Amino acid sequence: MAPTKVTKICCIGAGYVGGPTCAVIALKCPHITVTIVDLNQSRIDAWNSPDFQLPIFEPGLEDVVRQCRDRNLFFSTDVDKGIRDAELIFVSVNTPTKKTGVGAGSAADLNNVERATRRIAAMSTTSKIVVEKSTVPCRTAESMRTILEANSKPNCRFDILSNPEFLAEGTAIADLYNPDRVLIGSLQTPEGLDACESLKGVYANWVPSEHILTVGLWSSELTKLAANAMLAQRISSINALSAICEATGANIDEVAHAVGTDSRLGPKFLKASVGFGGSCFQKDILNLVYLSESLHLNEVAKYWRGVVDMNEWQKRRFGQKVVKELFGTITGKRIAVLGFAFKADTGDTRESAAITLIRDFQSERALVNVYDPQVPQEQIWQDLQEASPSSSLDTIQKHVTVSPSAISALYKSMNKPAFVFDGRLVFGNTERERLANIGFKVISIGRGDSI
Ligand code: ADP
Repeated sequence: MAPTKVTKICCIGAGYVGGPTCAVIALKCPHITVTIVDLNQSRIDAWNSPDFQLPIFEPGLEDVVRQCRDRNLFFSTDVDKGIRDAELIFVSVNTPTKKTGVGAGSAADLNNVERATRRIAAMSTTSKIVVEKSTVPCRTAESMRTILEANSKPNCRFDILSNPEFLAEGTAIADLYNPDRVLIGSLQTPEGLDACESLKGVYANWVPSEHILTVGLWSSELTKLAANAMLAQRISSINALSAICEATGANIDEVAHAVGTDSRLGPKFLKASVGFGGSCFQKDILNLVYLSESLHLNEVAKYWRGVVDMNEWQKRRFGQKVVKELFGTITGKRIAVLGFAFKADTGDTRESAAITLIRDFQSERALVNVYDPQVPQEQIWQDLQEASPSSSLDTIQKHVTVSPSAISALYKSMNKPAFVFDGRLVFGNTERERLANIGFKVISIGRGDSI
């Protein structure tokens, strides 16, 4: 039997992964009908909103949705119909770190994956290729296969593929147009290899074939965790060095630049900062830690946990530096926090360093003004509430204000001496000097001298 030429795709989960990925597939494959389904009505309404107020912010995304929506790209809450009509189904539901039970704090919560898989099993009347796109620990595909096979019907077979997403939030659309690689994992059986060819046929509409890597199912699942763990490890390494720079007067930007010119290392991901955030790095490393522990590889677990520990330390260290520089106390002092999302060009706040910082400032009884043009106010309140479960929202709002603009932090209106803490190394030497000339005391991560 020849591999199916896919013309109908359904994506379960209209979030940061499923939304942009399937929108780009719709754009690049006009002959394929793509339906993105989600249980969350308000999310789907936002995707369908007449004025394109999409639920996630990603440069270039709106343009893609404008071109394809209601042409060959559809958004719906009718999950069952989406499943029934499709030949190929992406599962891109969220898999947060478990908060309770076995593996709490490190294992992934696979409840959503299981629910979606059971729905596929229940609703399908024709054969499907089921593609695992959520970040999941190794061998989740096996569980999905067990559920699907136990519920299969005559003339209705399920083939499972793993196709992890490597896009970075903030550059998702560019990454999807031009991926370093697309990775597809399958069972090495004739049916598995056929399913792999079918998915390859979708990406081949715009990705050169030498960039499409096909591997075994488990290698594919592990690659996603490994890639994120190694990226995060670079950040923790440079952040560890930033502390040495501060203590010795070296400049982390100079060190990182010089280190990065070594062609074996390369220049990317060597920017020191207040710590990495986002939904993936910490979660994927913790998955790797949990996996290693389950395999009784305790040294391996300890090694990767160190990357997360360093990140937590870096966040705490930055908060403590603010307190120390402000003469040992920030009680009653007003601090403006510019940016609440976990990095630039996204509205995603998951695991953002800003949340930890503001929580720490609150516990020192500082008065905090937050400004972020991409993050809705309700999201800020929800995140701060989750970070301090023992404080009421009222108490939090006594200490934190969400500002409509960055202007409220102007030097003129500030008590002197006024400080700027650069946790992202956004200021180069020129900007630092300009700020210093106005009268600011500028303190940056990874720099021993303050000016
Ligand atoms: P990610 O960054 O992994 O894409 P998000 O939280 O942005 O994560 O998106 C995941 C989406 O999956 C959410 O919009 C959520 O409502 C949806 N979802 C979770 N479980 C299911 C399910 N069983 N069926 C349909 N949609 C689901």
